[in-house]
Amino acid sequence: MEKILIIDDSPLQVAQLKDILSDEYDIDIEQSAEDGFELARAGNYSLILLDVVLPGMDGFTLLKILQEESNTKTVPVIMITTLSDIEHEQRGLTLGAVDYISKPFSPLIVKARVDTHIKLYNYRRQVEQQSKTDQMTGIANRRRHDEYSVEKWKESVRLQTPFSICMFDIDHFKSFNDTFGHPAGDKVIASVAKTIASYLHRSTDFFARYGGEEFVAILLGDDSDKVFEYIKTIRQAVEDLHIPHNPSVSEWVTVSIGGITIIPEADKSYDFYLKIADAMLYDAKKFGRNRVVWADERIKQLYEK
Ligand code: GH3
Ligand code: MG
Ligand code: MG
Repeated sequence: MEKILIIDDSPLQVAQLKDILSDEYDIDIEQSAEDGFELARAGNYSLILLDVVLPGMDGFTLLKILQEESNTKTVPVIMITTLSDIEHEQRGLTLGAVDYISKPFSPLIVKARVDTHIKLYNYRRQVEQQSKTDQMTGIANRRRHDEYSVEKWKESVRLQTPFSICMFDIDHFKSFNDTFGHPAGDKVIASVAKTIASYLHRSTDFFARYGGEEFVAILLGDDSDKVFEYIKTIRQAVEDLHIPHNPSVSEWVTVSIGGITIIPEADKSYDFYLKIADAMLYDAKKFGRNRVVWADERIKQLYEK
C-alpha cells in the first residue's frame, strides 16, 4: 500500500481523513510540524497532507523546509485548513503545495484529489527513473553517471576515502557485429553488463553504460590492491561466459579494463581521474586486450599478466 502522512493536530479532522483514505492507503499521523518533519524525512511517503495551523511551527514553514530536504522535496504536499480564504490558498500554492483542501471536506473530492496527486507522483517518478536508465541493459545510463560521479566525488573529497573509477570496453566488438550482426551484438552488451553488475552488489557500488560497448564502475572504500584483485575476477567472469567471438580475433568475447584508485583531492576533478582510467584502458588494449591495467594511489601502474 502507498503511504500517506497526515500532519494535523485536530483529532476530528484526522479521523475524517483516515475514514476517507485508509481503505486504500497506509496512513501515518503526526500532530506537530517538528515530529511530522522527522517522519517525512525517514519515511517513504507518496503524499503529505499538511494542516496550516499547528502548535509550534506552522504548516507553511514546514512546507518550505520539506521543499529543501532532499528526501522530501519531490513528495507532493496538499495543504488542509479551516481557513478557506484565498490568501492562504495562494500562499500554500506559491510555496509549492500541489493542492489545497479546506474544511468542511467533501470525502469524494478529498479522495479524488489524493488519488490524482499520487498517480501523478508515481508517473513522474517512473519517468525520472527511465530517464536515468539505459534501456538495453537496465543499468544506469550516461546521464545518471554524470550526476552520480560528481555527487560522490564531492562526498569522498570531504571524507578522504578511497575512490575507484573503472572503465570496461568490449574487445574487438566491431568485428563481433560484422560477424554475427548488430542484434546479436546488442545481446552481448546486455549479457556483459549483467555479469559485471552481478559482481557490483554493495550499496556503494555504481555501474553505468557509458556509451556503445563501454561501461564505467565507481567503487568506494577499498584500496587499489583490493580493487585491482576484484576487478580481475570480474574480467575473468566475462571471459567465462564463453560467448563465441569471431575466431580470427578471439575465441571468446572479453573485456579490457582500465582504472584508478585515489584518495580524492579537492583541487582535482572527477573528470581528471576518469581520463587517467581511460588511459589505463588504452594501455590494456595496447598490451593485448582481455586484461586489467590499474593506477594506484601514487599513479603507479599495476598490470595483469
Ligand atoms: P577494441 O578492442 O579496440 O575496443 O575494438 P572495438 O572494435 O571494440 O572498438 P571500436 O570502439 O572501434 O568499436 C566499437 C564498436 O561497438 C563499434 C560499434 O559497431 C559497436 N557498438 C557500439 N554500440 C553498440 C550497440 O549499442 N550495439 C551493438 N550491437 N554494437 C555497438
Ligand atoms: Mg569502445
Ligand atoms: Mg571495444
